[in-house]
Amino acid sequence: MGKIPQEPRDLSDLYDPTFVESKWRERWLVSETNSTDLAGAKKPFYALMMFPYPSAEGLHVGNLFAFTGNDIYARFQRLQGYDVFEPLGYDAFGIHSENYALKVGEHPSELIPNNIRNFRRQLERAGLMVDWRYTLSTTDPEYYKWTQWVFLQLLKQGLAYKKSAAVNWCPNDKTVLANEQVIAGACERCGAMVEQRQLEQWFFKISDYAPRLLSNLDRLDWSDSTRTAQRNWIGKSTGAEVEFKIDVEPETPMSVKVFTTRPDTIFGATYLVLAPEHLLVDVVTTREEFDSVSAYRELAGKQDLVSRKTSREKTGVFTGSYATNPATGQPIPIWIADYVLMEYGTGAIMGVPGHDERDFEFATKYDLPIVRVVAGDGQDGATPLESAFVDNDDAVLVNSGEFDALSVDEGKNRITAMLEANGHGRALNIYRLHDWCISRQRYWGPPIPIIYCDECGMVPVPEAELPVLLPYVKDFKPDDSGISPLARHEQWYRVKCPKCGDPARRETDVSDTFLDSAWYFLRYPNVGDGDRAFEPGMTKKWLPVNSYIGGNEHAVLHLLYSRFITMVLCDGGHLDFEEPFTKFRAHGMIVREGAKMSKSRGNVVNPDAYIEQWGADTFRTYLMFLGPFEEGGDFRDQGISGVRRFIDRLWSSVRSSVTEGEPDTDVMRKLHQTIRKVGEDVPRLGYNTAIAAMMEYMNVLRRNERTPHRAEVEPVVQLISPFAPHVAEELWEQLGHEESVFDSGWPGFDAALAAEETIELAVQVNGKLRGTLQVAPSITEDAALALAFAEPSVAKFVTGTPRKIIFVPGRLLNIVA
Ligand SMILES: [Zn+2]
Ligand SMILES: [Zn+2]
Repeated sequence: MGKIPQEPRDLSDLYDPTFVESKWRERWLVSETNSTDLAGAKKPFYALMMFPYPSAEGLHVGNLFAFTGNDIYARFQRLQGYDVFEPLGYDAFGIHSENYALKVGEHPSELIPNNIRNFRRQLERAGLMVDWRYTLSTTDPEYYKWTQWVFLQLLKQGLAYKKSAAVNWCPNDKTVLANEQVIAGACERCGAMVEQRQLEQWFFKISDYAPRLLSNLDRLDWSDSTRTAQRNWIGKSTGAEVEFKIDVEPETPMSVKVFTTRPDTIFGATYLVLAPEHLLVDVVTTREEFDSVSAYRELAGKQDLVSRKTSREKTGVFTGSYATNPATGQPIPIWIADYVLMEYGTGAIMGVPGHDERDFEFATKYDLPIVRVVAGDGQDGATPLESAFVDNDDAVLVNSGEFDALSVDEGKNRITAMLEANGHGRALNIYRLHDWCISRQRYWGPPIPIIYCDECGMVPVPEAELPVLLPYVKDFKPDDSGISPLARHEQWYRVKCPKCGDPARRETDVSDTFLDSAWYFLRYPNVGDGDRAFEPGMTKKWLPVNSYIGGNEHAVLHLLYSRFITMVLCDGGHLDFEEPFTKFRAHGMIVREGAKMSKSRGNVVNPDAYIEQWGADTFRTYLMFLGPFEEGGDFRDQGISGVRRFIDRLWSSVRSSVTEGEPDTDVMRKLHQTIRKVGEDVPRLGYNTAIAAMMEYMNVLRRNERTPHRAEVEPVVQLISPFAPHVAEELWEQLGHEESVFDSGWPGFDAALAAEETIELAVQVNGKLRGTLQVAPSITEDAALALAFAEPSVAKFVTGTPRKIIFVPGRLLNIVA
């Protein structure tokens, strides 16, 4: 630890961020300003940000934007009197790190510590209030020991299983890809055409939790867009499971189950389609059709799963067999087609070409009967179909026997009830959410803690023997075998069976990076605890996380997996809450001069260079000034000097302030309005408008070139402190305070004084209240309109030029769009 830098020789009015920031970095370390007493905290507040993957390039400006946004909220909460815990660690396992290591020909276990050191240096330079005593890296055996423990809990609770599954395989990266990593049949990472392979994989039964993962969303304080993304991903479909009897061998009754969201159209089901992998295909295929079915199945097996679902040209072949439509009693042909996937529903569908576009296309191509069973206004059962009829508003059932003339919704209920009564089906909800494939045939991850013994079968590694250390192996490049690189290292995988002592074999797959990050927030307050993943007392005190901030790119999987693991640990008696993040906000993206930042464009902002030139305080404040935190903004080099000028002005105003005489009444009114505004904006992450309010105040303060009174500037130091922590500390000290500005409390405002000069103006769009503005009573129509459009809650309801504006001065503004 270096010594505290000396005061500059000349206490002139020059603001020198390099001096101020290095002084306060040291001071915070020495005084342990950022250390939270986790055990003794009276008002705990856990302000979490998504931890970064420590890339070799160092901290990206997007990381810094996110972390600064979290840091401001955390510091604000501290000023409100909370004991704030703001930890930060590293998500360092996974394919990113491994691929980079392969590319540069080094070992990830040597690269990662260097990257982490560089990240740490940058993060400290940025002035985050992070308690570094509680940092972690997912690659640390002290951490992944507990990741392996989490795996064992799922196994114990019957939620981890192994099965052979069709997976997307990238022949170039030599790894399994999730469906969302396959774009138009190609690998998202490298562009290679993706193949389908059958591999033994470990899965977590997240699908069992789909109803709970869905219903809990209603009670979370999360961004609406994030909750919607989660709902869509879970993808609940309401419908029925219907059983069709197969007429293949009369002496052995057989049937096939299909799931449909449209049981009301069952009278129009004129054929069935099985996925090519469906187990019944072998049974129903007749001798005559055997060759064409086999050829088709072989072809389908080579395609990746995503193209199968999305490819435009629908193909299929007839199996030669028939099933009976349970509603009409008619025989209908059984086909196979690759657009039906085993992983959705039952792997079989009923074809209703009259009322499903895909089925219409298929039936037209293969000359299958098309029957109308729903009719719209002015149509009846005889109206011909030029295309699938899917408009259900005011439509009624036709050609459906006793159900004719019922509405679609009524038909759904009544036909489902009929199927249930006849033993042909039941009402059923299904979910799009699949079980989570957690095994990876790669090197850079925590080994899955399982041992295979010829005598005892699959044996979990005893918890006392964790961690199963990832061995250092030079040769970690994946090959085309689909088997983990660890399977090439016999001296590692040959072990004694923990049960019987016979020679046995370790699982050689490692677990998915998403498992590392699905529980890290539980570990932070318990870093250093070697006896358990998390201690009940500490966990009760600090969790669930009060506020979580992260990127939209993780708004689906990471959050869903974290919620799932938390529910599982809760069900296992390890936690007493099932939702990990009480509040979540997704931050926006930073672009530069209107363009997305990328290495190939050469327009990436290097935070180090900007911080060097302008100081961390200016850089932080500028990032937050770019736009609403949840939307992001456009980084323009010339913009940063305005923010620096604002801090320079604050600096000189504080240093020149006097204590004689009375403060100016108008200035004080504006000050109290500013305190109110910043105090309202920061908790809703309205950082840009909070900064704008402070800038506006500084302009008012300096309007008459008078010497400011101390009472007019001192609270501004507190207001700016979450944004520009170093300079705020320096000014606070220069004002004669001994404690940290962050222990000084948030300044209060006099409501009467602040309220005096503003009124509330209601803003309506088409007569509906969409927001209120705090404005001067004398505000003009144009000014009110400009302010109204700056409110996202108003702007989103107005597209194009308004048709009419109704302005009642002092009362309301109505925009007719
Ligand atoms: Zn690839
Ligand atoms: Zn054994």
